[in-house]
Amino acid sequence: MPNRQNFKSKLTHKVFGTIAEISDGQNLETYVIGGFVRDLLLDRKRENYDIDIVTVGSGISLARDVASAINPKLNVSVFKNFGTAMFKFDNIDFEFVGARKESYRSDSRKPIVEDGTLEDDQKRRDFTINALALSLNKDRFGELLDPFGGLDDLANKIIRTPLEPGITFSDDPLRMMRAIRFATQLEFIIEDKTLEAITEQAERIKIVSMERVMDELNKIILSSKPSVGFKLLDKTGLLPIIFPEFVKLKGREIKQGISHKDNFYHTLEVLDRICPNTDNLWLRWSAILHDIAKPATKRFVEGQGWTFHAHNFIGSKMIPGLFKRLKLPLNEKMKFVQKMVLLHMRPIVLSEEEVSDSAVRRLLFDAGDDIEDLMTLCEADITSKNADKVKRYMHNFRIVRQKLQDLEERDAIRNFQPPVSGEIIMETFGLSPSREVGMLKAAIKDAILDGLIHNNYEEAYNYMIEKAKEMGLSPVK
Ligand code: ATP
Ligand code: MG
Repeated sequence: MPNRQNFKSKLTHKVFGTIAEISDGQNLETYVIGGFVRDLLLDRKRENYDIDIVTVGSGISLARDVASAINPKLNVSVFKNFGTAMFKFDNIDFEFVGARKESYRSDSRKPIVEDGTLEDDQKRRDFTINALALSLNKDRFGELLDPFGGLDDLANKIIRTPLEPGITFSDDPLRMMRAIRFATQLEFIIEDKTLEAITEQAERIKIVSMERVMDELNKIILSSKPSVGFKLLDKTGLLPIIFPEFVKLKGREIKQGISHKDNFYHTLEVLDRICPNTDNLWLRWSAILHDIAKPATKRFVEGQGWTFHAHNFIGSKMIPGLFKRLKLPLNEKMKFVQKMVLLHMRPIVLSEEEVSDSAVRRLLFDAGDDIEDLMTLCEADITSKNADKVKRYMHNFRIVRQKLQDLEERDAIRNFQPPVSGEIIMETFGLSPSREVGMLKAAIKDAILDGLIHNNYEEAYNYMIEKAKEMGLSPVK
């Protein structure tokens, strides 16, 4: 039954009024549709969003007319091949398209497109909750057009395709990622038949470009509980196809009665635990990848049990290859993730021992400005079920944080610059670039990090003279 509910009071943006006037004047049926309507009916607040307008006619010409009515100088971007046009107004992207009918071939997610009715256009939408349209013509302004029961699905928190799900996903397999993304973001359940169809069609994800897959995966990672999405990706068989390295973390092996934790579920716990403390996508990726080399480094050592020796180091070496395959950026974001993976055990090791000033200075030196992020990762990494153990770690982390602050105030290690430069060393002893210069530089750095001297020119200079003497060098006058 078509639902005749009206949501006029929610369509407050003045552009909707302009669209109504122009559409009426040109005898065009026009609607606002898709994610904007969904979020409006959910009262979901968003920082940046786009508004999709569909008209039974030319979207491009309507976009031009609306834009020039708002402001003749407003720039309209036209994508002729797609039959779409958009402009930015009030920091919102208004996207216009003519209502269309789509049909697919098996080898591509690019459809053959013809003009169609509103209902044709709603049928090509991915989910019932994304197919909701509100009329923008004056006599029906705000009226809901909901041929597939999207409003009920919103109320019941259900993700379901408007048409047969197997065909919907086979036509455009990216929709499988989107289903899981919306389920995670909105905390909705994927209806049984829709979920089954994802499992059946999972292989089809291979025809989608990795960039598009990652766009959706990153949205899952940025939601408040990403483990929900990863578990669905795993259950449907998508995860082994798009990210097999991660699936390898699964399972526990037992030898001589000794087992290790399941690093897949451990990692998902770490990821969920870090979310309240950071919205930084790359710190969240660091949580996903911190133990990625555990399968590659796993050994059973007699008398010791399971070890994952140097998994942090091997893990950080795996990151460039992984980022390249996953089409993630190969820039300073990747370097940051490498650094986090490499250093992720340092604060934990530190907090297991007596927390010495020297060890904290070295940590600060190696982590630099990323020290806060590293501590955030380490705190999320404590997933032990043993409450006493967790308490002890958290207590020690507080000590580490306090020391980090004290030492930074005193010694400014975070952005360490050697107080005595290589040039001064060479000048003082009449040396050319050589091993001796490097050794003296390293000795000064170590003395500062070990707290033997403070981080200033005078103490460093005197220390250099002393060290040089031991090496048989004396200053040239
Ligand atoms: P968000 O903006 O949060 O990503 P959205 O639902 O607005 O969510 P968009 O990618 O902006 O998603 O797409 C706008 C609308 O276009 C969707 O609501 C849906 O109706 C339709 N749509 C987008 N991608 C697809 C697709 N792959 N298959 C079918 N319909 C789609
Ligand atoms: Mg959108």
